[in-house]
Amino acid sequence: MKIAFFSTQPYDRMFFNRENQDERFTYQFYETHLGPHIVQAVNDVDAVCVFVNDRVNREVIEVLASRGVKIIALRCAGFNNVDLDAAREFGIAVCRVPAYSPEAVAEHAMALLLTLNRKTHKAYNRVREQNFSLNGLLGFNLHGKTIGVVGTGKIGKAFCRVAKGFGCKLLAFDIYEDEQLKEMGVSYVDMDTLYRSSDIISLHCPLTPENKHMINNTSIRQMKDGVVVLNTSRGALIDTSAVIDALKTRKIGGLALDVYEQEEKLFFKDLSGTIIEDDTIQRLMSFPNVLVTAHQAFFTEEALTQIAGTTLSNIEGLLLGHEPSNKQAIVV
Ligand code: NAD
Repeated sequence: MKIAFFSTQPYDRMFFNRENQDERFTYQFYETHLGPHIVQAVNDVDAVCVFVNDRVNREVIEVLASRGVKIIALRCAGFNNVDLDAAREFGIAVCRVPAYSPEAVAEHAMALLLTLNRKTHKAYNRVREQNFSLNGLLGFNLHGKTIGVVGTGKIGKAFCRVAKGFGCKLLAFDIYEDEQLKEMGVSYVDMDTLYRSSDIISLHCPLTPENKHMINNTSIRQMKDGVVVLNTSRGALIDTSAVIDALKTRKIGGLALDVYEQEEKLFFKDLSGTIIEDDTIQRLMSFPNVLVTAHQAFFTEEALTQIAGTTLSNIEGLLLGHEPSNKQAIVV
């Protein structure tokens, strides 16, 4: 079973090699994204394995099909970057890792909120410079605050459990209501109520054509003054220019992002010492109340182990014609 991996980093190689001790798979690792510039080089593999910022569009899929590729294996949960209609049309299966330690992402979302609020990132640097002043480090108690959680699937649910531990009041919006969360005291409300009533809003829904830019000028206008917005889901849920305007007017009091709409040119790369041409991210990072991490919410030992294990068993199952152990892993 031969697999070409795209957008790989040393840690991808490490975890996928660990799961292939018996060498039943043959690997080709590429650092570059999968895209029209490289797809012609794909040859003699059963599957391509891609990540969040590979753009697997119709043009790419057509070439993959002509090269005999049978599977597009996403080593992530979201699949918004693959043209599923084209995959169906060209008879290529698409699989993903529907669940890998949702706690990894939920805990990172809480870490972002705590850091942004209590400014530990600033305090760390300050103390190292022998500046022991507290001016500018004022935060607020999370206890008693209302958090609006958009999407209460695996990650949103884990985030609710974490936030509950801090004594927060939880509002949620999802197409499906989770009974366990309701028993835990989470109140499902419509989006208008969630926007109006939340001190903090955390996004945990997938990106779809319908909810692209759901955080925009109109929704921001409904929010409380000084609202804190967290996005660990997908960058395009937020209209970045709208949040920049709202940060300038102080409508948004804090913004923490692990994902960014234009992230594919930046994230997972060491660009230190180079000129960043993306003025939008530069403007975002210039705000003292904006915290950006580079799509690292998933990045734990536990999650990477599960990602590698599930991806390989998805590919093996599809190639050998086995019933998938988790039907949600098969997208097409
Ligand atoms: P999930 O499928 O378990 O849950 C998603 C939930 O969102 C479902 O309950 C669904 O009904 C709901 N939903 C769908 N459309 C919605 C909408 N318009 N408004 C509100 N809710 C909606 O997925 P998950 O495992 O919880 O992951 C959620 C998202 O987190 C993924 O789609 C992915 O984009 C993102 N993610 C990010 C990272 C990271 O490292 N930053 C890692 C994994 C996943």
